[in-house]
Amino acid sequence: TVVTRFAPSPTGFLHIGGARTALFNWLYARHHGGKALLRIEDTDKKRSTQEAIDAILDGLKWMGLDYDDEPTFQSAQAGRHAEIANALLDAGYAYKCFATPEELEEMRAEQRANKQPMRYDGRWRDRDPSEAPEGAPFTVRLKTPQGGETTIQDKVQGAVSVKNDELDDYIILRADGTPTYMLAVVVDDHDMGVTHVIRGDDHLNNAFRQLPIYRAMDAVEGGWPDPVYAHIPLIHGSDGAKLSKRHGALGVEAYRDEMGILPDALFNYLLRLGWGHGDREEITRAEAIKLFDLAGVGKSPSRFDIKKLENLNGHYIREADDAMLASLAAPYISGDVDLDLLTKAMPVLKTRAKSIHEIAEGAGFLFAKLPLEMTDKAANLLDDDGRARLSSVSDALKRENDWTIEALEATTKSLAEELGLGLGKLAQPMRAALTGTTTSPGIFDVLVLLGREEALARLDAQAA
Ligand code: GLU
Repeated sequence: TVVTRFAPSPTGFLHIGGARTALFNWLYARHHGGKALLRIEDTDKKRSTQEAIDAILDGLKWMGLDYDDEPTFQSAQAGRHAEIANALLDAGYAYKCFATPEELEEMRAEQRANKQPMRYDGRWRDRDPSEAPEGAPFTVRLKTPQGGETTIQDKVQGAVSVKNDELDDYIILRADGTPTYMLAVVVDDHDMGVTHVIRGDDHLNNAFRQLPIYRAMDAVEGGWPDPVYAHIPLIHGSDGAKLSKRHGALGVEAYRDEMGILPDALFNYLLRLGWGHGDREEITRAEAIKLFDLAGVGKSPSRFDIKKLENLNGHYIREADDAMLASLAAPYISGDVDLDLLTKAMPVLKTRAKSIHEIAEGAGFLFAKLPLEMTDKAANLLDDDGRARLSSVSDALKRENDWTIEALEATTKSLAEELGLGLGKLAQPMRAALTGTTTSPGIFDVLVLLGREEALARLDAQAA
């Protein structure tokens, strides 16, 4: 069966690239009826924080990505990592390196001076450890293959080869006995039964260093098959440059809290960022699981387009449940929010909104209290002429007993005709008086949502 894992380092929030890696891993496992696992790579204790762990777990949950086991923590496995390092050492696939830091610095300085690539020269690879001084500290280095090349059949990148001589004998166990990241990833992936390693292509080089560990351990004890690799291209900004904050590369929680994006919108947007299935715009979760495959993942970096995400969010908002939208928008509205009224208003509020915040902004007038706060533009509409027109409107509407959109519209239109004015000449000051702004849902919707009493009170507060 297929087993995938998402392996974030909790040194920061779950950013947009990580969220997409998580999504692809999750979809691949679900598509194949396999397991999706989560591993927190917290070996860098200085940079890992609980806050980041919480933000990652929270972000994944919000996106609707569930995992088949409790998350595992890489730091808890340090003993197991050392055990494997020692097994490699015992079997001759790794060796002790007694080179001192000063000696290695000297080696690198020389390489730098000769314009050679800086890599460990294997000076202890074939030396007898007994040549080292008694009790001298050592690191454990992997014996990487020499000569020839290693080829990876990557599911996204295709066949990629690297000359083995470009891989140096890197450290798998530090002098203090702690494992390095490169060893930990391989041991954990093996122990978790991971069959498919799907991650950003910034890790492609690591795959060539990690494979020799699988192969050595497979020779030592068997049961360490190469994983299938899929290195997905990074996300770039809309200008093609590496994604940064400037392009809207925020933590997932910022899309939720600051931009008012719905999880379905982000899910769908990230899915189609780097994975294509014809021209389909909106794909449900169930369809995504059914359709997703690595063959559809493109090789070139995708461009993050925040406008597209916002537009897509608008689509999802229009289809979303009104009561749910009301509960999401309510915290962003000041005053006493009546959730029933907000839900009732949602069909008109959501028609043009691209975010939860825009809904909240548009809903503000519903819960405002007299005297209304006015924008400058709204105040300008309430000059002497505007106020005079408002009192005609108010008089006419007071005589209206049927407080429905149709009736109110008919009454207001016939008043406009009577006064020889276009409807806009009445609607503009009405909007200003009723909402304190110059943009709002349709003016008759506004009248109905506010209700007779409140609407007339607001009109009269501004009427001449
Ligand atoms: N922890 C690594 C990262 O966050 C991922 C390692 C991997 O996927 O192999 O970049």
